[in-house]
Parts: sequence; structure tokens; C-alpha cells
Amino acid sequence: LVPSLPAISTPARPDPLGVLGVPGQINLDYAASAPCVRAAADAVAELLPWYASVHRGAGALSRRCTLAYERARQTIGDFVGARPDDHVIFTRNTTDAVNLLARALPAGTTVVTFAGEHHANLLPWPRGSVRLPVPESPAGAVRALDAALGELRRVSAGTRVPGLPVLVAVTGASNVTGERWPVAELARVAHRYAARILVDAAQLAPHAPVDLAALDVDYLALSGHKLYAPFGAGVLVGRSDWLDAAPPYLAGGGATAHVGPATHEVRWASGPARHEAGTPNLLGAVALAAVCEAFTEADRETLHAREQELLTRLRDGLAALPHVVELRTFAPEAPRVGIVSFVVAGRDSAEVAAHLAGAHQIGVRDGLFCAHPLARRLLTEAAARSGRRDLPSTALRASIGLGSTVAEVDRLLAALAELG
Ligand code: PMP
Repeated sequence: LVPSLPAISTPARPDPLGVLGVPGQINLDYAASAPCVRAAADAVAELLPWYASVHRGAGALSRRCTLAYERARQTIGDFVGARPDDHVIFTRNTTDAVNLLARALPAGTTVVTFAGEHHANLLPWPRGSVRLPVPESPAGAVRALDAALGELRRVSAGTRVPGLPVLVAVTGASNVTGERWPVAELARVAHRYAARILVDAAQLAPHAPVDLAALDVDYLALSGHKLYAPFGAGVLVGRSDWLDAAPPYLAGGGATAHVGPATHEVRWASGPARHEAGTPNLLGAVALAAVCEAFTEADRETLHAREQELLTRLRDGLAALPHVVELRTFAPEAPRVGIVSFVVAGRDSAEVAAHLAGAHQIGVRDGLFCAHPLARRLLTEAAARSGRRDLPSTALRASIGLGSTVAEVDRLLAALAELG
């Protein structure tokens, strides 16, 4: 369909994890929610007959559910390289995990982040947080953080109370551009200033191994539904001290060690239970853990190489269309995961997305991708770079993953070619 593109070497079994999908529908929206893999569905099916309360009952079913839940915690912690003292706290998703950490910050913590973040990593932070401008390169991000933390230190030597905590909160990979952020380098800079660092791994974890200990990152948040598991389970993983000292994220059953007769006479549990009040999402946790196990068994280097081949084909194909302009923060060759945002000159992005769905059964995302400051800036930058005055005010995003194929990418490119 796109004859100018080279042939690609597709392995005999391109999708060893078994992505579930609907025949005839081309899903190029993995970054919003990835399809489930068979491991997740099997884990749910296996546990369903045992469905019973977690941490509550003495019966065999309940004990098995409790065990499965706690094993899932361990498996997910191992998958992300949690250290022995780290907590793995189940949340609903990344947004929930970041909000949990925001509520657990010691008093007076300054949070430093970049304007390129997803809203989930911009909006939960307290007033007084520092929002650095979107950098022009990964090295620029490291330099900007260094300068900002140096400035904070100077301020604290004067007016700010010395020793107040600082948290750096950055994404591992952008949900708009797919560009990877230099997480290990940013962690090194943060720690040089005795700051801590949170990595929003919502988009990185589905595409590349993330190891807290190896990256020397203090906290990590991710969503199961972007990692080929069902909706409703995510995690916050990281240092236990702030979490154990903080008030519970939710007040209620399961988060308590003792509740007395007097109003407000309560001693909260320590450990993850402190922040997991209420009956937990057992099936979500177990399915997410099953996906982590499947990834651990898979050859991730091969998966990564295949995805990068597809991504290159997609980006080269878009670059060959004169009426398409890609959105990017860094140089075109900067490392990225399988996400590309772009605009079709002279076409409204919502209309293009609806046309792709209606005429071609291709699902992509349109809008500003819950990262309004970044997306708006990149749209302005794309207009300047391309010299075009007819770019729309919102964008399109195509994202690929385990089940994506050459044919799907080519179908998208051919459909976009027709809009020229
Ligand atoms: N961070 C990033 C980078 C994301 O892409 C998303 C989801 N688009 C989130 C956070 C929020 O994830 P969730 O909606 O699962 O909470």
C-alpha cells in the first residue's frame, strides 16, 4: 500500500503474549489503554471460581484470594525492581498513585516537575511546586533540573527552611511524543541535591523494562490498563518512610490497626494496608501480576526491536506525507516508545480520527492528550517548523504495541495519504 517503504522482517510469532482483539478492527491507540493479553485473561478465569474476600475471611476461598493478592504485590514489585524496604501499594491507576504520593508528602515538600507532563503528574502537586519549561533535549532536561535544584538550595540557605524535602516528578516516556526521558540521569541529579524522584512509568513500562533499583529512582507509578491488564489496577511503588508516616490515603476498613470507642480514636495500619482501605481489586491485581510474569518470561529485547522497526516505519511513512507534521519535543532521533502524535494540515483532527474509524476501522486518539501545556506548545512549534498556517488546534496520536503489525501501520499511512 505504501510502496516507498522497505520490507520488514516480521518474526514468525510477532506477538508471544497473545494480545486479545477484535478481528477487522485496527487498534492504534495502545497508549490510551492497551488491549489485554491472554495471561491476564487466564489469570482472571482461573481465580474467578475462588472469588472471595481478601484479608477478611478465614475460609479456604478467602485465604486463597488473600494469598493471590499478596503474591501479586510481590510479583509486581519484583517486575519493577522494588527494593526490599519499598512498598508496593495497589491503586486504581497512575493518576491514583500520583495523588496518593502527593497526599503523603512531608509538610513543606517542594515538588519540581516539567511542563511536558501528563496532567496526572502536573495537577496533584501542592501549590508552590516548581514547573520547569519543556526542555529542548534530554540533556537540556538534566541541565534544567540541576539549575532548578541548585536555585532551590540557594533559596533554602536564605529564606526557605533548610532540609525541607524536594521531590522531582518526571515521566519515563511522554504520552504525547513517545520520547523517553533520561530518568537515570535525572535521578542522579536529584540525589546529588538530596531530593527524591518519582517516575511516571505509565507509558514507559509497557515498552521497556523499568527497574527502580537499577535506575535509582525513589517512586514509580504505573497503570495496569496500559500494561495489557484490565482496567482498575495500578501501583505506587517506592520508599516506605513517607508513606508510613502519612495519613491514610483513604480512611476506612482495612487501613486500621485499632479503632476505639471515642470519635477519631484510631491507630492506622503500617505498610501498604495503610493506604488501601476498602475491599481491594483482587482480579485487577492478579491480572496485572500475570502480565508482569509473562513479560519476564518473554524476550523483551526482541519485542523492543520489533516495536522499534514498526515505529520507524510509521514515522518514516508520516514524514513522507507532505501534508502531515509530527509533534516532537526533542530531535527526531531521540529514543522513543511506540507513540507518535501528528497533525494533518488543513484537517480538523477530530474529523480525521472519525474518518479513520468510520472508513478504515482504524482507532487513533485525537485531542490534547491530557497534556494541554505540552500539546499546545508542540502544535505551535510544529506550525513554526513546517511553515504551515493551516495546522489544526488539536492533534492525532497513533500508538503501537505487542499486537501491532506492519499491515496495520501501512493501512494507517495509506488512509492518511488519501487526505493529502
Ligand atoms: N501518565 C501518563 C504518561 C499517561 O500517559 C497517563 C494516561 N494517559 C497517565 C499518567 C494517567 O494514567 P491513568 O489514566 O491510567 O491514571
